[in-house]
Amino acid sequence: MTSVLDKTTAVKAPGHGDAFTSHLYSLRYSPDLGWHDGGLQPLADLSLHPATLGLHYGQVIFEGMKAFRQQDGSVAVFRPWENARRFNRSGARLAMPELPEHLYVEGVDAVVAADHGELSDDPDHSLYLRPLMFGTDANLMLRPSEEYLFLVMAFVAGGFFGDVVRPVSVLVSRDQARAMPGGTGDVKCAANYGPSFVAQRRAQQAGCQQVVWLDSAERRWVEEMGGMNLFFVRGNGPGAEVFTTPLTGTLLPGVTRDSLMRVAARLGYRVAERPVSVDEWRAGCEAGEITEVFACGTAAVVTPVGHVKDVEGDFTVGDGEMGPVTRTLREALVDLQRGRVADVDGWLH
Ligand code: PMP
Repeated sequence: MTSVLDKTTAVKAPGHGDAFTSHLYSLRYSPDLGWHDGGLQPLADLSLHPATLGLHYGQVIFEGMKAFRQQDGSVAVFRPWENARRFNRSGARLAMPELPEHLYVEGVDAVVAADHGELSDDPDHSLYLRPLMFGTDANLMLRPSEEYLFLVMAFVAGGFFGDVVRPVSVLVSRDQARAMPGGTGDVKCAANYGPSFVAQRRAQQAGCQQVVWLDSAERRWVEEMGGMNLFFVRGNGPGAEVFTTPLTGTLLPGVTRDSLMRVAARLGYRVAERPVSVDEWRAGCEAGEITEVFACGTAAVVTPVGHVKDVEGDFTVGDGEMGPVTRTLREALVDLQRGRVADVDGWLH
């Protein structure tokens, strides 16, 4: 087994989620002391009581951000304050204490400062940062934990779907739903992800890379895709409309989604948030009106969707290849993240 501290793993072969860097930041919470004992240590196993409350009752939240090598050789994290805010929204939903945003960012900064040297200057690589927080009480009463552990770890990431950007195929999940109104679909808690694995596995068995989630009531409205938000392009050229599904409370408000809406508007596209059903998606593609579809997220950046499999009929988006609007937006975002263009929004930290 490769040691987590084997740097050659980190530098040579980043998959997604195993090329860990050398350090772990941790910070504890207790009602008496508040947040305390923050510090960096070598990445190592944790010692946990078997009754650790978070493990049993799912009081676990996490985040995902990336740091990118900049043109001048420095490393910058993309929009960490947005993730800090989302982290606290997730925590509030799970009855967890608030983590002041500056403490969240301090933890992220500590790991980046210690481990940025493990990120090569390969332009396809980045440092994926994973903050995590869970209830640590050794107690099985069905109630919120009183004590918590906040951790930040990192791994070197290549492309989520491999280093070359190729369109993905997706399977529409008709029977299993990801989230319901009043549930936790709009926050980033661990409990949203385990239950998605069966549908994800089915997608893979059907020859697809990802699953598309629909609303849980009508099983008609497109919500999001795996761990990514979805965008649709109507029309061609500079007058094209770029739209994404609205934040109904049952999908995650992606930081990449928000960034792309702003970038697209700045590039002159018409940008909208509106519901789209699978039927409208299929009919739009068949009529040539919906010309491109892409998924976006921290891990996947911008990834074109080429083919859609669905029990009510498969279809292809455009010619099944990456379209010009997707390519333009992908390049614009990557240029921003890597400091190749002016950071007019102050998104780089
Ligand atoms: N939806 C889900 C369910 C996710 O897990 C993620 C990844 N955090 C996203 C969308 C994309 O969010 P972001 O752009 O903030 O990475």
